[in-house]
Amino acid sequence: MESPFGMDCTTTAARVYLSPPDVGAAERDALASAFDSGWIAPLGPQVDAFEEALAARVQRRCGAATNSGTAALHLGLRLLGVGPGDAVWLSTLTFVASVSPVRWLGAEPVFLDSEARTWNLDPELLEQALAEAAARGRLPKVLIVVDIYGQCADWPRITAACERYGVAILEDAAEALGARVGGRPAGSFGALSAVSFNGNKIITCSGGGMLVGDDPELIERARWLASQAREPAPHYQHEQLGYNYRLSNLLAGVGLAQLGRLDALIAARRANYAHYAEALGALPGLQFMPEPEGFASTRWLSVLLVDPDRFGVDREALRVALAAENIEARPVWKPMHLQPVFAGCRMIGAGVTDDLFARGLCLPSGSTLRAEDRERVIAVFRELHRRARPQVAMAAAAAGGLR
Ligand SMILES: *Cc1c(COP(=O)(O)O)cnc(C)c1O
Repeated sequence: MESPFGMDCTTTAARVYLSPPDVGAAERDALASAFDSGWIAPLGPQVDAFEEALAARVQRRCGAATNSGTAALHLGLRLLGVGPGDAVWLSTLTFVASVSPVRWLGAEPVFLDSEARTWNLDPELLEQALAEAAARGRLPKVLIVVDIYGQCADWPRITAACERYGVAILEDAAEALGARVGGRPAGSFGALSAVSFNGNKIITCSGGGMLVGDDPELIERARWLASQAREPAPHYQHEQLGYNYRLSNLLAGVGLAQLGRLDALIAARRANYAHYAEALGALPGLQFMPEPEGFASTRWLSVLLVDPDRFGVDREALRVALAAENIEARPVWKPMHLQPVFAGCRMIGAGVTDDLFARGLCLPSGSTLRAEDRERVIAVFRELHRRARPQVAMAAAAAGGLR
């Protein structure tokens, strides 16, 4: 049967998804009780409670619930004063939603490479680039730092560098709710942080996001901008352009129920990773995303790099073989500096994210993933390696013979 993804499946086994939603009775009850309360649209007590609970969880004073993480990023940039012609620096290893709002505001994105240690924005590269930019009087208006795949960036170094030059930071913690570094949670760094509750994230309300921060006035302004920027008047009075970005009260109910389960969902994701690492660790040429000392990753996705010379086949062969088994696996994010839509944008540093993209594979990582589904994934790896082993051995012998 032709799958909706256009891939040729050779199996009738149930599809294994990369990161599907994990919702059940708790979420259905929360949705029903929001519905029964009569607070259907647009706002209500569930939105207030969700904002309060999520902000507390990420050690922020307040939050503005939005209908997507992208909307939260857009509002964050607006509030930090980004406008036409401004330079906004950001991690190149991310999803396009980190960058689109920069362009919507008429600003210029400038991409920075990652460090191999965290896969996130390279703090050393940032320090050098900021020093050069300061010398030329061309500092960025804002730096967006992404916490990729459930792991925090090196926040202690990045915040110190930005404080030195007075550059405001917007944290894109869309993928990292529950992660920590140096004892502090993702979502607590920089002037403002955005999180996402899209269907593939660690918690979901089907679609939604939040902008969190420590300045209640700024967050109140985010709520106002997100509600069409209506001036206080009985008629509809508008002096600035706003957006229709608020989260529905029904969905905030779902978000609250999900937030109550966050620790269990993190534990399930980490268990997936531990299982993959244990089962695949013995095979040569596979290297999981590192989790350096002092960093606590949620393992939102289990991601690894494939060295084709040592493993026997490359990342793409693995992905295609998994697809044939009706298993969804994906390459690491294609970095933004390689995206045609951002051709011509400046890129600082080189090499690390190109390599992550060339060799990186994201494995099925959902909190609903069953042990037998993980075994199907692992079996594909073992089988491809087994079939390739003679070639690997020959290549190694040839290389040895040359020495
Ligand atoms: C998912 C995601 C977003 C956007 O969140 P939405 O809720 O889907 O709009 C932004 N940045 C990153 C890194 C993401 O993974």
